[in-house]
Amino acid sequence: MSRIASVLIPMPLPEAFDYAEPEGMGLAAGDQVAVPLGPRLIRGVVTDLREAAGGNRPLKPVAERLDEPPLPPGTLEFVQWAARYAVDAPGQPLAIALRGARAPKARPQRVVRATGAAPARPTPARSKVLAAATAPMPPADLARAAGVGAGVVKGLIDEGVLALDHVVPAAGFQPPDLTRRGAALSDSQAAAASALSSSLGGFGVTLLDGVTGSGKTEVYLEAAAAALAADPEAQVLILLPEIALTQAVIARVTARFGAAPGEWHSDVAPPARRRVWEGVADGGCRIVVGARSALFLPFRRLKLIVVDEEHDGSFKQEDGFIYHARDLAVVRGRIEDAAVVLASATPSLESLRNAETGRYRWLRLSARHGTARLPDIELVDLRETPPESGRWLSPPLVRAMAETWERGEQTLLFLNRRGYAPLVLCKACGERMTAPDTDSWLVEHRYTGRLVCHLTGFSMPKPAACPHCGAKDSLASIGPGVERVEEEARALFPEARIAVFSSDTVFDAREARRLVEAMAAGDIDILVATQAAAKGHNFPKLTLVGVVDADLGLRGGDLRAAERTYQLLAQATGRAGRKDRPGRALLQTYAPEHAVMQALKAQDRDAFVAAEMAERELAGLPPFGRLAAVIASGPDAAQLDAFVRGMAEVAPNTPGVEVYGPADAPLGLVRGRRRKRFLVRADRGVDLSAYMAAWRARVKPPGQVRVAIDIDPYSFL
Ligand code: ADP
Repeated sequence: MSRIASVLIPMPLPEAFDYAEPEGMGLAAGDQVAVPLGPRLIRGVVTDLREAAGGNRPLKPVAERLDEPPLPPGTLEFVQWAARYAVDAPGQPLAIALRGARAPKARPQRVVRATGAAPARPTPARSKVLAAATAPMPPADLARAAGVGAGVVKGLIDEGVLALDHVVPAAGFQPPDLTRRGAALSDSQAAAASALSSSLGGFGVTLLDGVTGSGKTEVYLEAAAAALAADPEAQVLILLPEIALTQAVIARVTARFGAAPGEWHSDVAPPARRRVWEGVADGGCRIVVGARSALFLPFRRLKLIVVDEEHDGSFKQEDGFIYHARDLAVVRGRIEDAAVVLASATPSLESLRNAETGRYRWLRLSARHGTARLPDIELVDLRETPPESGRWLSPPLVRAMAETWERGEQTLLFLNRRGYAPLVLCKACGERMTAPDTDSWLVEHRYTGRLVCHLTGFSMPKPAACPHCGAKDSLASIGPGVERVEEEARALFPEARIAVFSSDTVFDAREARRLVEAMAAGDIDILVATQAAAKGHNFPKLTLVGVVDADLGLRGGDLRAAERTYQLLAQATGRAGRKDRPGRALLQTYAPEHAVMQALKAQDRDAFVAAEMAERELAGLPPFGRLAAVIASGPDAAQLDAFVRGMAEVAPNTPGVEVYGPADAPLGLVRGRRRKRFLVRADRGVDLSAYMAAWRARVKPPGQVRVAIDIDPYSFL
């Protein structure tokens, strides 16, 4: 009897396709195969096998079973669950799950080593090369290390003083050393660690809720050690919201276990990704530290998932396959029967609600470790003490910076705005510089001299004359970004060592690590940073945090604006005053009476959360109700209008569900495509994914119209 294999293909197709299993291929669910799709052979994964009933039309056969690790059952189930939840094609999450499997393997690398022979003609440059050749390394690295040109190294190879070898980078992972001990924990930390360790061995979610610097990382590393020790094949996944933070945690994991974990994020080179993917699949890689997509790795025996900084909006993937890694981590934990730890100093209202109702275990650490205290928080009322015209740092903040500088301590200036100025306008005609075909202002970047659209990536050189009216030298930079604040700080403190940390200046993991280390070592006096640096890090000499524009996140607010502002500012101010030096934070605000500012000043999170929860409950908003969004877009306004009007008419009528819209999206035009939105609110008990899938099935978007569904949206633009 022959069998039929359902094969899922990593493309946005509605379902798995059936193929005939050739005699003797012996396929199993999870196997990676090559199958014909149109004229091509394409990689897919077998999801299901069944006996062929007679009389069916003949199916194309599976072309080949690939000699690649299969996807474990848990990973396959997770991929399918995630697609159903997100109301998207299962091929989308599958593509994420196969990203590492499809990356090229590491190629042999050319390295040179000293043979011991002496050069026939010694020169200072050649001596420098020999002094630097302490270990085998690529020729270009050796030349760089010695500070000489590539020709010097080549000459020594030709002479036989250096030998050229080909080495294949190691494929395996060093196992964690479980005999090492972590830090001696305080009583409250030890209690939390033992509660976490006792939660291992099955599914369950714990909210590890501890103030910044309370030792949450130390505590969850103890739980990781316990999980790894309890089972020689156990695997642990630690998820972080930012690449910069993965670097800090990788360093701590490496120090704790004497072996580097698998590293997984968008900046990892393809061969290294492939190595992690295979290591996770064969079980050799036991600890992974990564960004959200690490959740889709093919774990064989996942026992613990930690989501650090669980409140962070960066866990939400907004384009392509839309998902929230914190929420899906809980699902993956349930599927794998693994313990899940959500850690934060400012947990999301969703997680706090689950802790309050007992769905999650709730562990609290209320004090900083050792003698470190939380910083004093002061509000600077910009109406009373404004900065000088054209400046952004108020006199009280400048005074505090001067005192900090005199004490030899560090300042962090936090402003969540990249570039030099968020808006450029013509003083002659009032024209605002906008991106072509997109509803967004161009942001001025002085380092590169360009105007950049942060939404689409479009950029252009800053013109000398206004493109609208032609006036010369009339373009004015309005408002501050980090580059402008840096300029002001330099003018105020010309001797200080000042650096900027934003995604423009820190474009890869290596640069992030370099800046974090320089900051930790005290080689920087003033760091001007966006949120990329304002979270999670420990900088022992940092005693002053100045928030340049505390009101920024509250403007044009969506339902989470207050929550997000509170979280971000509590995190940023929480960088001050680690170790034995007391810290302070100054928040520049035009609205010191706002509930968020008052809660920050009083360090009263619980009161803020209680007030915010009450408002959400009244409105039936998350975490008391659920939301979904539909974003329809298309190049033709009339066609899009007609489509969304038709879509509104066929929305299923279900008790406990309200549909709002269609409305113009706040970002009404992106890359020449008009955008319309619906917002759906549902009571908690409603299966919102099923509702959205039923609605989606009733419409057929015309050619150029695209429909995206966002379950539990965080962006409302
Ligand atoms: P959190 O994750 O809660 O912000 P961390 O685990 O990063 O806190 O701890 C903050 C700082 O205090 C780190 O430098 C950490 O090494 C140190 N620390 C925390 N707990 C201990 C401990 N028990 N012994 C020694 N150092 C500790």
